[in-house]
Amino acid sequence: MLKNIILMGPPGAGKGTQAKKLVSEFNLVHISTGDMFRDAIKAGTELGLMAQSYINRGDLVPDEVTIGIVKERLAMEDCASGFLLDGFPRTIPQAEALEKIGQEISRPIDVVINIDCDKNELIRRISGRRVCKNCGAPYHVDTMKPKVDGVCDICGGPLYQRKDDNKDALEVRLGHYVNQTKPLLDYYQNKGLLKTFDGSIGSDVLFDDLTKLIRGQK
Ligand code: ADP
Ligand code: ZN
Repeated sequence: MLKNIILMGPPGAGKGTQAKKLVSEFNLVHISTGDMFRDAIKAGTELGLMAQSYINRGDLVPDEVTIGIVKERLAMEDCASGFLLDGFPRTIPQAEALEKIGQEISRPIDVVINIDCDKNELIRRISGRRVCKNCGAPYHVDTMKPKVDGVCDICGGPLYQRKDDNKDALEVRLGHYVNQTKPLLDYYQNKGLLKTFDGSIGSDVLFDDLTKLIRGQK
């Protein structure tokens, strides 16, 4: 089984949805830098205050900060049995730092899963996205409605629209994706680690394909 996994893709490709299902299927530690920042903002910590302005604009949080929090998390004992990185790395310096960290703690990356999706679909998904304030589970106002309006199916928490899920911030985020994150696809392709999947196929079909890959059946 592949156990140290990076999940990549543009905002809205469905990373969060797949990540939640994969970590519970394979008992992996879910390391979502976006969730870590949002938790820090909610808790009003120094990290949260610092990250907030970047995130609300759609900009990336500076590399040294992001690398620091991931490094700390990856070194924790529970990551020994496998982890899923969701939203990290997003820049070449982050990928290089991750490689070094992986060597230092003997937890190298086994596979990089890239979920691809076209821009119009991304915009449609993100502009209708709602997220559980409590557990982070994603919903969509038209295509992934909760059973009860405004309430999370999984934990009963309230659903809200992320501040960076608006048209302006989204343009900024997609721009950063193209300029800073997309080059990582070549980086991991050259290392023989990249596997690309179509994010516009149904979420269950995609999950099926991903579980086969992780089990080594594909
Ligand atoms: P999405 O994939 O939907 O854009 P995330 O929840 O992964 O959202 O991230 C939200 C925001 O958190 C990003 O737009 C960015 O500001 C910040 N962030 C998350 N991960 C990173 C990272 N690896 N490097 C820099 N900033 C990050
Ligand atoms: Zn929830």
